Amino acid sequence: MKIAIIGSGYVGLVSGACLADFGHEVTCIDINAERIEKLRAGEIPIYEPGLDELVARNTRFKRLSFSTELEGPVHDAEAVFIAVGTPSRRGDGHADLTYVYRAVRDVAAALNPDRLTVVVDKSTVPVGTGDEVEWIIREERPGVPFAVVSNPEFLREGAAIADFKRPDRIVVGVEDDEDAREIMREVYRPLFLNETPILFTRRRTAELIKYAGNAFLAMKITFINEIADLCERLDADVQDVALGIGLDGRIGKKFLHAGPGYGGSCFPKDTLALIKTAQDHESPVRLIETTVAINDQRKRAMSRKVVQAAGGDLRGKTVAVLGLTFKPNTDDMRDSPAISLIQGLQDAGALVRGFDPEGMEEALKVIDGVEYCTDAYETVGGADVAVIVTEWDQFRALDFDRMGKAMRDPVLVDLRNIYTRADVEARGFRYVDVGRGRQTPPPAMVRENVLRLRA
Ligand code: NAD
Repeated sequence: MKIAIIGSGYVGLVSGACLADFGHEVTCIDINAERIEKLRAGEIPIYEPGLDELVARNTRFKRLSFSTELEGPVHDAEAVFIAVGTPSRRGDGHADLTYVYRAVRDVAAALNPDRLTVVVDKSTVPVGTGDEVEWIIREERPGVPFAVVSNPEFLREGAAIADFKRPDRIVVGVEDDEDAREIMREVYRPLFLNETPILFTRRRTAELIKYAGNAFLAMKITFINEIADLCERLDADVQDVALGIGLDGRIGKKFLHAGPGYGGSCFPKDTLALIKTAQDHESPVRLIETTVAINDQRKRAMSRKVVQAAGGDLRGKTVAVLGLTFKPNTDDMRDSPAISLIQGLQDAGALVRGFDPEGMEEALKVIDGVEYCTDAYETVGGADVAVIVTEWDQFRALDFDRMGKAMRDPVLVDLRNIYTRADVEARGFRYVDVGRGRQTPPPAMVRENVLRLRA
């Protein structure tokens, strides 16, 4: 089957490469000419494990190609996927649908008048957008056969290929149109052989499923973050609490890792957009409103945690930030907790040094005034506190002796709970985690250990 994908970012490119790997003939289109040029030259413009190999293989077999022009590929395609960005609209938090509607108008102009084309919305869009898209296409191309389908994407950056190829489910929202349903079955046929459930719903329901899913996960993270704060007060261990409740099948273990608050390209904007839609329809989602407020406060509160770890004052001190992206295995900096944390640290008077294994190029675009370094050890050089913000694998086995010697004061704030207190303290560090209870030993005693270690 011939497929055109409009928008070749994290979702468009991964979807395009995976659909080509299923055997379809896919053209990925983008208005960003530099991006398409890179892709044609075999360069991958984003960091996503395994994507380079997948793109190379499918390009070689001529199942995957790239273009800035959509006319030909859309005219020839049976399914046209819209995978452009839907960021928060500046000012009010509604989803900004400018890119979607622009893409839809371009697609409408290129539709083949002689047979059915399914226009598949893969971008996360507010409920009712499919109706609007249908209206636009009908206005632009009266009489041309088409169907508008909602097919929200649930992939996670960093594990995107596995998520696309082995999803928990596929959701397809389609109004009463068996031909469109059949085309969608054909698109995902290889997955049915693996018995992936496909859920056909009405279009509006599919649109809501995506928002409800993300809102629920954001709420789950926020819930355990609040329990972590309580654990700190009660001297209980949030990891054990998470396990204790997560083993209950009704709750589940995932998304119960306490940390600095959720960020990324989806949860922040999608929770806001859901709140706005719900308010507009006089059916507020108060749990999600509260979730957003708590998460915003939390991101900022993390800098106060660092201030405390440094003895109450950061003026004139240096903080080493390890990890800048919102999670490991991506270069995505959108709404990363590191952004508010670093802002808070700078406001408190700290000099901030930072390093991320893949996100430096993106970080440079969104965070000012940071001394960027080339690895973890250079970053902690002369620092008074080191903070782990993103749990990249390379931060999971740090050489604490080397770090201790490089730092002015060996203090580690582990916002991802990747170490255990006993291990880190045994290396002479003062250690602060998120919600695992038990007070750290007094600083003086720890310093003694370090002096011994350095000697
Ligand atoms: P992105 O910003 O990485 O990519 C969007 C791409 O679309 C850009 O390359 C941009 O140049 C291109 N584009 C914009 N207008 C265009 C047009 N008219 N024609 C052709 N190309 C155009 O965005 P993303 O992260 O891939 O997200 C896309 C959508 O998928 C969003 O709605 C997002 O919420 C949703 N989503 C994202 C993820 C994720 O993990 N990133 C997961 C699930 C769903």
